[in-house]
Amino acid sequence: MVALVELLKKFVEAKNEVRRIEEELISLTDSLRKYVYSLPEEDTRKSAIFTRIDEYCDGWECSVCGNAWSLIDGGTPSEHDMRFCPFCGARITAERDPYVEELEEEDETSDSTV
Ligand SMILES: [Zn+2]
Repeated sequence: MVALVELLKKFVEAKNEVRRIEEELISLTDSLRKYVYSLPEEDTRKSAIFTRIDEYCDGWECSVCGNAWSLIDGGTPSEHDMRFCPFCGARITAERDPYVEELEEEDETSDSTV
């Protein structure tokens, strides 16, 4: 009879231990889920270089999709707070304005001759 009581005690203790471990696992799973949801989403956008394609129409071409966007007020994409290509969504990471660069180069050569 004593052996049976001892066996029942061990069974109840084991069942309580299983319940405690289950609750701990649920808590850990919740913590892990919250952590994963708190991570910033990976930025899978491509990086684009916007290049001015024409000196007079203020068209800027995306290096990713090849489409051009015209800035009718002039200026550069960054001056208009453009951060993404309006066509393909690529992140604009650089701008090239060959017409300004040509002017700068002309200035440099004129400086060197002085
Ligand atoms: Zn694009």
